[in-house]
This record gives sequence, structure tokens and C-alpha cells, in this order.
Amino acid sequence: MLARERVADGVWRLPLPSRTLPPYNHTNSYLVRSGPAGVLIDMGSDDPQVLASLRSTLTLLGVTELTAMLLTHTHPDHCAGVAAIQESYGVPVYAHPLEHPRLTPDTQISIRPLQDGDTVPVGAGTGLRVHHTPGHSPGHLSFSLLAARTVLVGDLLAAQGSTWVGHPEGDVSDYLASLDGLARLDAAVFGPGHGPLVREPKARLGEVRAHRLAREAEVVAALRLPLDLSALRKTIYPDVPEALARFTEGSLQVHLAKLIREGRVVQRGDHYRRAR
Ligand SMILES: [Zn+2]
Repeated sequence: MLARERVADGVWRLPLPSRTLPPYNHTNSYLVRSGPAGVLIDMGSDDPQVLASLRSTLTLLGVTELTAMLLTHTHPDHCAGVAAIQESYGVPVYAHPLEHPRLTPDTQISIRPLQDGDTVPVGAGTGLRVHHTPGHSPGHLSFSLLAARTVLVGDLLAAQGSTWVGHPEGDVSDYLASLDGLARLDAAVFGPGHGPLVREPKARLGEVRAHRLAREAEVVAALRLPLDLSALRKTIYPDVPEALARFTEGSLQVHLAKLIREGRVVQRGDHYRRAR
């Protein structure tokens, strides 16, 4: 039987072992049930044992038929097991069209499109509302069950730590707009893609937003002198090992892209500096 946590009426978090980034060793799948029908969100495990246990867990939770599999996005730690689920349950898989190219080349999965504002029915009388929440990845989706004041937010945020928003897929402006979109949903709980549930969504959204803006302010302050990307990284992240340079520079690149778009930073050749 799989570990599980009840999130709200008819909603469960299933933390399944996955190949993801530290500090996590699992990705949360979510099961939403109405009557005997269930919809599964994300599947980061392709371990045959986990997939076998899923069947008995679904039965235990009263689900006799999976009607859809939804993907918040198509990073491998969220969809490694999707082909196996599609094969063994025959369910349609849905994701935002911007996420399809990453998935289709090496799998046989056929994916159907989901757009902002769509509703995915779960049995009779219940539906998951689809919200396009880019920033971490371009076609990232969140799913809300407003009757339960529950929003499944994928990798947009977690209860602790900060989410990867970096080059080439990340976009800080989109990310902040997505946080604002979630704030308007009046949720009582967020179900993140990794780690525990977020029980105070408004407060957490505020912290996450403040963290991004603080990082942005550090970048602007550092660029009173012209710096190239590597020098900027050593200023902002002096303690991060060289081995992680690609990641830290990737996250600075998306801040720089936003600041350049806003006319607050200018680029000359390899160097960036604050606009006067
Ligand atoms: Zn991700």
C-alpha cells in the first residue's frame, strides 16, 4: 500500500519515490475522487512495485475507474510513470500544449491539450479547474477544486525552500504573475509537487514572492558595477560550489532577462550593469 495523506474531501496526496532533486526523494501524485471515478495528477515513479501498489490504493480509496491523468508539467520527475499508467489503465493523459514536445519524442504517450479555464470532470458533478501558471516551466498548470478550497500547484512552490526558476524554461515575470493568479483563488490548502501540504497558502505566497523580489534587488545592487554572468554569480552566491554554476547562473539569467525587459539593467557584450 502506498503512503497517502487526505488533503480534503475526495482528495489525497500520494508521495511516490522519484528521481528528483534534493532535498526531496519523492514527487507528490494527487488523487481526486468523485463516486467511483478518479483523476490522477502527476506520476513521477516508474517503479513497477509502486505502480502495482497504486492499483490496490485506488481500490482502497473507492476508485474503480481512472478517467484521466493530468500533468502539471513534463519534467521527468512528474511524468516518469505516465506511459505505464496510460498502458495499464487506458486513461487519456492531458497537459498544456507547451509541455507536449518534451514528452512525446521518447515515449508512445498520446497527450491531449489542456488550456487555462478548462474544467476536467471527475465523475458526476465535480470538476477540476485548469489554471495556466507558467514560470517554472512554460506550460505549467495548476488544478483547483474550489468546492474543497484546494489547489494543486505542482512545482510553482513548496512548503519550504525555493522553486527552480531558471534558463531556458523559467521566466520570473510569468512566475510572479502565476503567484498572483493563485492568490486570487482563495484556497485553504495548496498541494505542492514535492514535500508537505501548504496549509497557509496566502502567507506562503507572500514569502515566495518576497524571496524572488529580494533576489532581484540583490542583482540590481550588484550591477552598480558592470559584471559578466560568472562574476555576478560569485557576488550573489559566493558559497555555492562551482559544480552548481550552471544552475545558479541559469537562475540569474532569468532575473537579468526580466530586468533588461523592464529597462532596469542594460547589457553590453558579456557584461551587465544597472541602467542609470
Ligand atoms: Zn519541475
